[in-house]
Amino acid sequence: MAAITMKNIVKRYGDGFPAVNEVSLDVRDGEFMILVGPSGCGKSTLLRMIVGLEDITGGEMRIGERVVNKIAPRQRNLSMVFQNYALYPHLTVFENIAFPLRLAKVPREEVDRRVRETAELLELTEHLDRKPANLSGGQRQRVAMGRAIIRQANAFLFDEPLSNLDAKLRGQMRTEISRLQRRLGVTTVYVTHDQTEAMTLGDRVAVLRKGVLQQVGSPRELYEEPVNLFVAGFIGSPSMNFLPASVDGTALDTPLGRFEAGDARKAAAIEGRDVVLVGIRPEHFEDASLVGAEKKARGSTVSARVDVTEWLGNELYAYVPYEAPDDLAAQLRDLSRELDSDQLRTQAVISLDAASEITAGDAAELWIDTSKIHIFDPASGANLT
Ligand code: ATP
Repeated sequence: MAAITMKNIVKRYGDGFPAVNEVSLDVRDGEFMILVGPSGCGKSTLLRMIVGLEDITGGEMRIGERVVNKIAPRQRNLSMVFQNYALYPHLTVFENIAFPLRLAKVPREEVDRRVRETAELLELTEHLDRKPANLSGGQRQRVAMGRAIIRQANAFLFDEPLSNLDAKLRGQMRTEISRLQRRLGVTTVYVTHDQTEAMTLGDRVAVLRKGVLQQVGSPRELYEEPVNLFVAGFIGSPSMNFLPASVDGTALDTPLGRFEAGDARKAAAIEGRDVVLVGIRPEHFEDASLVGAEKKARGSTVSARVDVTEWLGNELYAYVPYEAPDDLAAQLRDLSRELDSDQLRTQAVISLDAASEITAGDAAELWIDTSKIHIFDPASGANLT
């Protein structure tokens, strides 16, 4: 096992825009690190540079103490699981799992013992004599993992290993991978574009955008303290609402109504500014009629017209369309390079207690937990709170 240390890693294909741009990231010994970001953000390229499948244009990559920039993939002793499993169709499950040991000329009895142990761990024992064609997608994925973990590698690397599986199986495999990684305690780097996988699997998550590392932290840190609009919008589902707001003293004028910034820190964040973006997660709204007086006083209540509701049994989604006043919208468009129309959506998504009786068409009284709101600088996207 080993730590993986990346210092100012750059990757350029040709002389274009860097696919990976000055990324510095430490994956600790035994840690489960997720690399996440939208398509094209450079996460696979970064993973391929760790493994050695891609040359490093600049910076320093270490595995343990050793600088590996110029070291061949084989000598890095890393184990990789790909998206498309890449099993050998003509070999049995046993031989597929045994493959790396056969290559390493491990003695017969030891191969037998280790394959059986691995199969046990992955619940594949009864399938050892089958060929990949006769396995389900999930079983095939487990064989691919078996082949990866049977080696005593410095680290495991996963490139979107679950993306070919259906939703149910993905959920199941997610818990299996998580359990397996904890049990083996091996340094793991896992690439995904799926924020749910990122949030549920990793000890820490590194969020990439256009080749640039945005934030590294525990899932909870990313969720509660996103450093900028991009991370705030990317992590969490349904995603955070971003309301354009003009600042009036310590109050925020938003298309959903006017409310106080919440606390001294937030008041300080908006001081001297004309316009900001207010980030409110769907669950930080509540049906005001279900909030007790004492709690109510700790936040703000607005009146908003709900146009669609979705009752899911355990919660109620309410959608509130809004339009930013023209002057505010124009000001924001001038300021913001960060904002895409998706993030600045024209409806707020609100998650309410299932007991709420708010229905579509209602002018609903919504309580906002203003202690949980975020204030973003529209120009830089930075979280000011
Ligand atoms: P995805 O989730 O779609 O696989 P990703 O985040 O893994 O995306 P990369 O595959 O790392 O992204 O690609 C990062 C950028 O580098 C993209 O803009 C991509 O087009 C570019 N790129 C990747 N491989 C090459 C290559 N061999 N030659 C030129 N450009 C490449």
